[in-house]
Amino acid sequence: MEKMKVIIADQINEKGIENLKEVADVDVDTSITQEELIDKIKDFDAIIVRSRTKVTRNVIKSADKLKIIARAGVGVDNVDIEAATEKGIMVVNAPESTSITVAEHAMGLILSLARKIQAADKSVKEGKWEKSKFMGIELAGKTLGIIGMGRIGSQVASRCKAFNMDILVNDPYITEEVASKLGARIVDKETLLKDADVITIHVPLTPETKHSVSKKEFDMMKNSAFIINCARGGIINEDDLYDALSDGEIAGAGLDVFENEPPVDSPLLKLDNVVLTPHIGASTREAQRDAAIIVANEVKKVFMNEAPKNVLNMPVLDPETFQAIKPYMQLSEKLADFLIQAAKGNITEVDITYCGELAEFPRTDILSRTVLKEMLNSILEEPVNMINAPTIAKNRGIVITESQRSEAEGYKSLVKVKIKSERSEMSIEGTATKEPRIVRIDEYWVNVKPKGIMVITRYKDIPGTIGTIGTKLGEHGINIAKMQVGREAPGQEAVMVVTVDQKVPSEVIDNIRKLEHVYDAVYVQL
Ligand code: NAD
Repeated sequence: MEKMKVIIADQINEKGIENLKEVADVDVDTSITQEELIDKIKDFDAIIVRSRTKVTRNVIKSADKLKIIARAGVGVDNVDIEAATEKGIMVVNAPESTSITVAEHAMGLILSLARKIQAADKSVKEGKWEKSKFMGIELAGKTLGIIGMGRIGSQVASRCKAFNMDILVNDPYITEEVASKLGARIVDKETLLKDADVITIHVPLTPETKHSVSKKEFDMMKNSAFIINCARGGIINEDDLYDALSDGEIAGAGLDVFENEPPVDSPLLKLDNVVLTPHIGASTREAQRDAAIIVANEVKKVFMNEAPKNVLNMPVLDPETFQAIKPYMQLSEKLADFLIQAAKGNITEVDITYCGELAEFPRTDILSRTVLKEMLNSILEEPVNMINAPTIAKNRGIVITESQRSEAEGYKSLVKVKIKSERSEMSIEGTATKEPRIVRIDEYWVNVKPKGIMVITRYKDIPGTIGTIGTKLGEHGINIAKMQVGREAPGQEAVMVVTVDQKVPSEVIDNIRKLEHVYDAVYVQL
């Protein structure tokens, strides 16, 4: 049998190359140009790249034999995943390759701040011997606050445990069980900010986390606190950080990432109580070696007809099934997006029910995977896809149930998704017969296009309540575009979905929650 052929288009660690040579013909061509690649790719079954080579739609178009594109690293900006998916080519990466490396870098920054190492080093090199100036603190007995307990946060936790630190965690998407296995205690963000001596950030940069550490948060921290960011620039508001460090609101900061990289004009460069590194959190030989080994193994698996684990694109469906299920995939994405924004606290259960004709559909698993993929993608840094979504959900302690019901309450088909978290429970139902519609929120029937900015309020159906909610929005200059009310009986609890023209600040939602006869209000942007 003819051997599979792999092209390695960027420099990767030798160990990965050696692994592959056992099963494939390996062509290492690390100076190949785009034009050459477009011409050459047609003969290959796999391509491995780092970040230099761009696997564009044009490259993929001529890749007639290609089964797998492997990125020896984490980010896949240089691969056109959509084009690869359309052509049924798997895209894999090595998201776990850098976790230890980044966690160790965070440790380096923490220790450097605690013992003022870089300032002391500078002083000694200047010929000084300022022992009293560099009085430090011990980490033992201190409290570490981890914001975001994913792959890297978990590694930091276990290392700080070994330093005899108490570990607090704020991560709304992990369960107590997962945290306690790592010797950590889940607390709300405010408690973490107030109680921690060292705060380290390991969340992805999302609209929710952008500037999530700003003046308000610095004001809550101890004056002796250190803050570390090895995640992404933009999570910390750097202007507010500068003020907090200059005014003695906090004692120090260790940053590997910045809003603008390099941070040439940043006033932070002038401060003594900061330790700065040039986004090198993931830069170790071991991380690069591991990335090469991981992706080489993934390629090997594909050649041996086994399933690789870090596949970033969806499984290929036959065109007929795909066409039939596509509107319900779009609906499932919307339902998941809605619920993940409306839910409060750690998600513990996701129940999905397929009703009516859909109950007979053989591949509803695709819809369940769509729901999980969408929910997890909005809270995790690692790309969650149709293949890995159930495993990731399970690893995070989320119980998933899928069921079928022939009855669809007068609709041809319905998808019902219910999520339970430690603090709330919410369900939503939708149909996609003509176009995606949300038809039920909890027990209340509505008919809402899942698009735009919405405020969903639960209230007591008493004359005037709807008016007070509308007035509250109006007071803040928020214009109502559409309104839908669902209720069971007059005077009972009801739900109102208001589609608005502008974003609604969280203070406004808080104010609506405080109105008389209003039980709850949530804000969703689809
Ligand atoms: P991960 O997806 O494994 O973990 C992210 C965690 O953040 C999850 O547990 C998630 O539940 C949690 N989270 C999401 N939103 C949150 C919120 N609003 N509040 C609290 N927790 C929230 O990701 P990871 O691999 O551990 O990466 C963490 C960060 O490190 C990412 O920003 C990533 O880009 C960054 N990173 C930096 C470098 C570097 O060179 N400095 C290298 C690799 C990764």
